[in-house]
Amino acid sequence: MTGPALAQSPADAGPSGADWAAAVAAVRALPADGRVLLICHVNPDGDALGSMLGCALGLRRMGLRQLQATFPGPPGVAEPFRGLPGLDLLVPAADAWTDPDLVLCFDAASVSRIGDLADRLDRAGEVVVLDHHASNTRFGRIHLVDPFAAATSVVVEGLLDRLDVPLDREIAECLYVALTTDTGSFRFAMTTPAVHEMAARMLATGLRPEEISRRVFDTRPFGAVRLYGDVLGRAELEPEAAGGLGLVWTYATLDDLARHGQPAYVLEALIDSVRCTAEADVSCVLKQVAESEWAVSMRSKGPVDVSRVAVALGGGGHRLAAGFTGRGSANDIIAAIRTELDRVLAEPE
Ligand code: AMP
Ligand code: MN
Ligand code: MN
Repeated sequence: MTGPALAQSPADAGPSGADWAAAVAAVRALPADGRVLLICHVNPDGDALGSMLGCALGLRRMGLRQLQATFPGPPGVAEPFRGLPGLDLLVPAADAWTDPDLVLCFDAASVSRIGDLADRLDRAGEVVVLDHHASNTRFGRIHLVDPFAAATSVVVEGLLDRLDVPLDREIAECLYVALTTDTGSFRFAMTTPAVHEMAARMLATGLRPEEISRRVFDTRPFGAVRLYGDVLGRAELEPEAAGGLGLVWTYATLDDLARHGQPAYVLEALIDSVRCTAEADVSCVLKQVAESEWAVSMRSKGPVDVSRVAVALGGGGHRLAAGFTGRGSANDIIAAIRTELDRVLAEPE
C-alpha cells in the first residue's frame, strides 16, 4: 500500500461520498490489463461468493481482462454454489497474484477472515474493502462498509451503479443469491423496503427465483437428511441459560459426517433447524473441523447480541448471527459460551 490513509467515515455510518468516489476512481484508473484480485472470506457463504463474483462479472463487463477471484483454504465451492455465474474466474489462493494492481475484499469483517491472502493487501496498488459488518476493522485503504446494508451485495450494487455497469442476468443472479442468503430469504430484520426494491431490480433481469432457491437452499443429499436426524436428536435445551432467556445447542462431529458420507457444507443450514426452538432465545451449533477445533454458529432472536459473545471468543459477526472458532471439547466451548452470555447480559452495550 502507498500513500496516506484516506479520511475515514465514522464506523457506524455507511460509506461517505468521498469513499464512493475513491473506490470508483481506483477502478477507473486501471488500464484494461490491470490485474484485479477479488477476495472473499474463508468458507464462503452465499453473500461472500455472490458479492465477489457479481462484482467480478461487472468489472469484466467494463472491459477489464485480468480478473482473479479467490478465498483462503480449500479451493472448491460447496455444491449449492456450483451453478453461480462467474465461477470460471475462481483461482486457488496459492495461485492468486501476489502484487495485483487492485484488491477488492468482500464480506470480511477483519483481516483474519481472509487467512493467508492477507499478504496480498500489503503489496497491492490499492485495496478496497466492501462489507456490511458493524465490527469491520477497516483493514484496507478505501472502505465501502455499510452496517445498514442487509448484505455485502447491496454495497456491490452501489459500486457497479456508480461505475455505470448495467445489471445483466448473471450479475443479478450473483447479487440475488447474496441478498437472499443474508436476509434468510427476506425474513430477517434487515429486510427493508430497499431490500425488496433491490430484489425487484434483480428479478427484472429474468431470474428464476424458484430455481435459484431450490439449488442454493433447498437441495441436500439424503445422507444429509439422516445426518440431521442424528445431530438434532442430541440437541440440548437449557432454559436457565442466557439469564433465563434460554439456550439450545447441538454439535456435529467429523465422525458424524464420515458415517453418513457427507461433506462439511451440508451442516451450514443446521443452525436454521435449531434456532426455531421456541423455548430459547440463543441457539448454537458446533461443527467439528479438527480433533479439538470447532466452527461455532450462534443466533439470537433479539434480546441477546451474540456478536459480543463471538467477539469475546475470538470471532465476530452481526447482532443476531455470529460465529467463532472454538478450541477444546464441545462441553468446554458450551461452558465458555454460557459464561460469555452471562457477562454480555450483565454489561450494558
Ligand atoms: P455462520 O454461523 O457461519 O452462518 O456465520 C454467521 C456470521 O458470523 C457470519 O456472517 C460472519 O459474519 C460471522 N462469523 C462466523 N464465523 C466467524 C469467525 N470464525 N470469525 C468471525 N466472524 C465469523
Ligand atoms: Mn458471509
Ligand atoms: Mn454478509
